[in-house]
Amino acid sequence: MDTMLAGRVHLDTKKFLVEEIPVPEPGPGEVLIEVKAAGVCLSDLHLIDGSISPVHLKSDVLTLGHEISGDVHALGPGLKRGLAVGTRVALQAGQPCRECATCVRGGRCTSFRGRGVDYDGGWSQYTVAREDTVVPIPDALPFDQAAIIPDAVSTSYAALVETVQVRSAQSVGIWGVGGVGAHAVRLARMMGASPIIAVDPLPGARERALAFGADIALDPTDPGFAEAVLRATDGMGLDHAFDFAGVPRVREQASPLLGDHGALVLVGITMEPLTISEKMTFNLKNKKVYGHYGSSFEHVYELIRLAGSGRLDLAPSITGHIPLAEASEAIHRLEHKIGDPIRLILVP
Ligand SMILES: [Zn+2]
Ligand SMILES: [Zn+2]
Repeated sequence: MDTMLAGRVHLDTKKFLVEEIPVPEPGPGEVLIEVKAAGVCLSDLHLIDGSISPVHLKSDVLTLGHEISGDVHALGPGLKRGLAVGTRVALQAGQPCRECATCVRGGRCTSFRGRGVDYDGGWSQYTVAREDTVVPIPDALPFDQAAIIPDAVSTSYAALVETVQVRSAQSVGIWGVGGVGAHAVRLARMMGASPIIAVDPLPGARERALAFGADIALDPTDPGFAEAVLRATDGMGLDHAFDFAGVPRVREQASPLLGDHGALVLVGITMEPLTISEKMTFNLKNKKVYGHYGSSFEHVYELIRLAGSGRLDLAPSITGHIPLAEASEAIHRLEHKIGDPIRLILVP
């Protein structure tokens, strides 16, 4: 039997190993993908340390990887889309169950299966994908940039275009400009937001946010912080504030800085309770708070169009390439923020 390398987490022992396993066979309605690039995400780290647990997985061992691109290598039986062998593709970060009550109604699946979470992902030389999760990419879009669109870029994109509809000349504050927040800065710039105010305690992150298109970058611990935000928005306050950090203090800091009808969007996840202690000005100014999670299949198609046509340049988001065999090194670099990575790419 043909074998391949795969980066797998053993959930019972919390051990991560790159192992030799059989190449999977595509079943009905599935294709086999030869993986070319695989993003390394914080949620991969959380699966290894046990702070995220798969809900639907039926095994103790899981191949990680939900930010994947590659070539269609072989076709399973019963395909409907006419995907050809050799097509360059990115893979959606998971799949709807197609069985729950909301799936049947055409709504958002309540039992969504995450790739590399609830079934084997693509930190491997080959991976199987259901055909509806395969998205062709243009030749102009490199595999590494395509791989990170599902999840790393699409989560911020959905927060900006769907949860609140950011438009030109609106003021935007982005708290936490690490991997996901840095993309939000870039996307806000593309959408014409102005001013874009990046907020991060780390000087390196602030510098990068300016390079990515922020107009100003502020340290949230600076005593003159609130005044600087008001000055940058002509005293009006922010139209949108995004918490990409998932830190309760961000919410307390952002809420009073919202302008009339301003919205606070919670993207970063925390186990701490959601508290906003702002008093009646929250009502008087008709402010709003939104929760945000994930993105839809359509957002990935839109981003592939934007990146493929040159509207959105994701090259600066690729921090480095690491052979799949050295996946443990990539995990180490992300965990300890060595080189302050946005996205490290595993190459099988
Ligand atoms: Zn991810
Ligand atoms: Zn469903």
